[in-house]
Amino acid sequence: MTDTTAETRVAAVDTTEVDVVIVGGGPAGLSAALNLGRARASVVVIDAGRPRNAATLRSHGFLTRDGIPPLELRKLARAELAAYPNVRVLDRTVVTALVEKDSGNGLRFIAALQGRGAGTPPAVAARSVLVATGLRETLPAIPSLRAFYGMSIFSCAACDAWELQDKALALIGETPDLAARARLIARWTDRLTVFTNGSDAVGTVEEAELAASGIFVDRRPIDDLEGDRGAVSAVRLTGGDRVEIDGGFVRPDWHPALDFVNGIEVSRDRFGNLEVDRSGRTSVPGLYAAGDAASPGPQQLIVAAGQGARAAAVLVHDFIGVRTAH
Ligand SMILES: Cc1cc2nc3c(=O)[nH]c(=O)nc-3n(C[C@H](O)[C@H](O)[C@H](O)COP(=O)(O)OP(=O)(O)OC[C@H]3O[C@@H](n4cnc5c(N)ncnc54)[C@H](O)[C@@H]3O)c2cc1C
Repeated sequence: MTDTTAETRVAAVDTTEVDVVIVGGGPAGLSAALNLGRARASVVVIDAGRPRNAATLRSHGFLTRDGIPPLELRKLARAELAAYPNVRVLDRTVVTALVEKDSGNGLRFIAALQGRGAGTPPAVAARSVLVATGLRETLPAIPSLRAFYGMSIFSCAACDAWELQDKALALIGETPDLAARARLIARWTDRLTVFTNGSDAVGTVEEAELAASGIFVDRRPIDDLEGDRGAVSAVRLTGGDRVEIDGGFVRPDWHPALDFVNGIEVSRDRFGNLEVDRSGRTSVPGLYAAGDAASPGPQQLIVAAGQGARAAAVLVHDFIGVRTAH
């Protein structure tokens, strides 16, 4: 009997030499994989499985999928990919190093892998590589912040402010863009307090401007957050004062997750992100980037997916040497 399950068919893909290695299986990488698969490219997606939004229960703003749990979105994408036998996903696998190596047959890159799954090859050679590894976040050093992050404290206003509208909110951060973020969040509530956690993130002129809009700036160091089961209820300041809140936002520091590219001489911006043109091409021919990995700050799921799709289209055109308007 012929076994036609998608899993069996994708398992048949040779994962040691492919047209495209995609590093990262978030919306950027999976969307690129779908479009490259449909263009008959052989593709391996390598995914460590640590999505940036794993802390949250619901994702918002993705057309037709508003409110979907993050893992469900990935699951749906994986199910669609299973229809393409030329696309394989290696889960729980990390690309530890990427090197340029012209082997003369068009395979320009070698990705070294470290995986837990049986049958994971130690390396994959590819004509092209798409970096879709997202970014890493460092939150301000407040002991319980991580317990509330993604539950009642968020970082993306476009993603989560709707659910917090008209509530008493905190904005916590230590970066110079804090006042601008406060003005953005004030779209959703007129009960906003900005906590600089002892830093000078908000200048005195900015503080006066915010005060004129009814936004109070509290400069005292934060001792911790209070609350229960992910629902924050107060900011506790050093000295013991408490400011009651129903939720809030934090401004993390964002860093690229790109150590594995260190062996390649590729242009980076001042934050260490890969510099790309509007189509996702880096300064190295055959090396592309999409999603949060391709920008100096975070984006949204649908933007990352769109960038992945665009990079896929450009990659296919580059394969055949035709310049595209993408
Ligand atoms: C708390 C929170 C809530 C959010 N809510 C929303 C929301 O409601 N709506 C919205 O649109 N956006 C939301 N976002 C933003 C959204 O998560 C990102 O914009 C989106 O995930 C970016 O997609 P990506 O594919 O670029 O990266 P990711 O989704 O981060 O995927 C990158 C993948 O690459 C893998 N990876 C990294 N390095 C390697 C490596 N070396 N080898 C193999 N794999 C690797 C990671 O494990 C990960 O699985 C939220 C973010 C956070 C933090």
